[in-house]
Amino acid sequence: MALKEDLISPKSPRALNDGVPYPDADLLFLEDLLTREERTRLSAARSFFQTEVRPLAVDHWNRAEFPFQLLPGLAAQELVGKQPTSHLLSGLIQMELTRADTSISTFFGVHHELFATAVEQLGSDVHREELLPDLLALRKIGAFALTEPLHGSDISRQIETTATRDGEDWILNGSKRWIGNGTFADVVLVWAKDTDDGQIKGFIVEKEREGFHAAPIANKISVRIVQNADITLNNVRIPAANWLPGTRTFQDTNFLLMNSRVWVSWQAVGQQLAAFDVARAYALEREQFGRPVASFQLIQDQLVRILGNAMMSLSLMIQLARLQESGRLSMDHAALAKATCTERMRESVALGRAILGGNGIGTDFEMAKIFADAEAIYSYEGTQQINTLLVGRAVTGHSAFA
Ligand SMILES: Cc1cc2nc3c(=O)[nH]c(=O)nc-3n(C[C@H](O)[C@H](O)[C@H](O)COP(=O)(O)OP(=O)(O)OC[C@H]3O[C@@H](n4cnc5c(N)ncnc54)[C@H](O)[C@@H]3O)c2cc1C
Repeated sequence: MALKEDLISPKSPRALNDGVPYPDADLLFLEDLLTREERTRLSAARSFFQTEVRPLAVDHWNRAEFPFQLLPGLAAQELVGKQPTSHLLSGLIQMELTRADTSISTFFGVHHELFATAVEQLGSDVHREELLPDLLALRKIGAFALTEPLHGSDISRQIETTATRDGEDWILNGSKRWIGNGTFADVVLVWAKDTDDGQIKGFIVEKEREGFHAAPIANKISVRIVQNADITLNNVRIPAANWLPGTRTFQDTNFLLMNSRVWVSWQAVGQQLAAFDVARAYALEREQFGRPVASFQLIQDQLVRILGNAMMSLSLMIQLARLQESGRLSMDHAALAKATCTERMRESVALGRAILGGNGIGTDFEMAKIFADAEAIYSYEGTQQINTLLVGRAVTGHSAFA
């Protein structure tokens, strides 16, 4: 009993876990590294995610529909934009959004980390002035189109989509696959090879452009709320000004991909906390042999393994936030985090699913959604294997995918 009381932080009483009167999963009080004002912001965001996002998620996931009604409330949270946000706070917010629902966090990550950040960091003043206010208010939604039907892991070397300069315009041709938010995004950042100099560059394509077509990808087993699209570009003509001037070579995407790998690693932490929340609440409620299954040693062992994985991942991410803050974060750090946190996550969600027994197989008890959504996190933003090989190259000097 003493241990349980010690673990309840008087500074941060939380009402998560469906009212379960036990400590939040952040047993190490890592959140206390935030300032008081940041803790208030995180707490408000968490409360919105748990009360407005999480309750909608299973139903929309089952129907593979996007809850557009959430957008005004999500925008009102001002998760990014107006106030300066430390890397730690922004990571913890992404973690908490994923904890409530992975798909909504993926939607937001693609829109903000990949599209809006590209406009902000790699766009022109005109791009920033024309697009950022609407993007930050979620009045306009962005998508990021890099992957192609025939090229995923090797896209930087084998990209087939082309951009050809024609007077004051560019003409784009090619196909893109898996593009998140692609069916409804107002603006899509399309990566294509400049036929003149052979370099990969980024172009903003508005959804109304003639020759642009986005078809929904159906029958997914993961992040079903996210509207992924197969996009075709058939002689799509865009003005020269739609080229993002900060994208002269593929190296310029590194900054974006590094940050988005960090964001996805935070997702992997949130996914584990979600598995812990649901598994613990269920284990306390479900009785077998006349007592809660939470009282069985093997169930406690599994819960503690989830928590240990989650806390290890969270601690790693906090150090990554420190590296970001001091400008020392490299792609290798981001790749190590992505490979490691997603590996831990896969074990955690499998343990969580097992704790629910048969009820872990259907989405009615939430866990099956959490279990399945982890698979997308494992594979996008560079698969777990590709990120492992990036670190392998860094620590051996030998590239396994030369
Ligand atoms: C839900 C979802 C959302 C996505 N959203 C977007 C998006 O918004 N925008 C976008 O551009 N893309 C998006 N993607 C694409 C994603 O980034 C790619 O799926 C990912 O990069 C892997 O590429 P691939 O699927 O073509 O797999 P492949 O590259 O075909 O890989 C197949 C398998 O081979 C392995 N492999 C490949 N090369 C090697 C190697 N050299 N050594 C060892 N193993 C190797 C991989 O790890 C994997 O297991 C999304 C994908 C999913 C599933």
